[in-house]
Amino acid sequence: MSRRRQIYEGKAKILYEGPEPGTLIQYFKDDATAFNAQKRGTINGKGVINNRISEFVFTRLSHIGVPTHFIRRLNMREQLIRQVEIVPLEVIVRNVAAGSLTKRLGIDEGETLPHTLLEYCYKDDGLGDPLVSEEEIACFNWASHEEMQDISSMAIRINDFLCGMFSAINIRLVDFKLEFGRLWDGDYSRLILADEISPDGCRLWDMTTGEKLDKDRFRRDLGGEEDAYREVARRLGLLSENDSGPGEVLDLAHHRGRLRGTKPKKS
Ligand code: UDP
Repeated sequence: MSRRRQIYEGKAKILYEGPEPGTLIQYFKDDATAFNAQKRGTINGKGVINNRISEFVFTRLSHIGVPTHFIRRLNMREQLIRQVEIVPLEVIVRNVAAGSLTKRLGIDEGETLPHTLLEYCYKDDGLGDPLVSEEEIACFNWASHEEMQDISSMAIRINDFLCGMFSAINIRLVDFKLEFGRLWDGDYSRLILADEISPDGCRLWDMTTGEKLDKDRFRRDLGGEEDAYREVARRLGLLSENDSGPGEVLDLAHHRGRLRGTKPKKS
């Protein structure tokens, strides 16, 4: 790693200078954080799985015409991406009530929303990524009106695609987070999908059992987070039945069937 210049280190990823101008290398760590990094831990093999899942999802999205920063996967933990200027917004897409929505509005977890909700949070760790209105976004120039139109239409399109993709593998896409970046060409910029799409930033529930297959297992000390992430990858066809996984990932057969029985860990 030391051979390359580090550009940025986030909670779950590191960005290094890429081999060509305008490119970066995105490295996926096993580190996990929750509640604005107040809770920290490690999910073994998460980086490898998220690299694969995000590669798969971004490749599929590009096939339906959603522009993304993904160029190609380099190895188990790294992918080559386009360098963008990140729009300082977390775009949250919700199909079912969960997480902060249930706390903020007192809605029961699991209630299907009458229609898909889009929410925007201002990306600022110091402020705890507060929810912001479109008026505030325009007022403080975080994104233009035209950019917000592009963001909302891309988010809805991505949601429609992902809902279908996950329902085909018996997973309910409850909610997820997106980030977008500006790709500059002279004075003009266009928006492309950036960051990652993985169980770190999505709520994924098994359609039959309601089992949580995402970072809520870590947030809520449910245990079995490694198995849950691996199960999503397996259902997407990224791990075969008796595949010991992409190198570092442990033997899946050993973990299969354990998810339901995992006991909550002590915090
Ligand atoms: N999310 C995320 N990063 C954040 C905040 C939220 O990836 O900084 C994802 C989260 O995993 C969930 C969705 O966005 O799938 C909605 O999160 P919510 O607002 O309910 O907040 P949380 O309960 O996760 O704090």
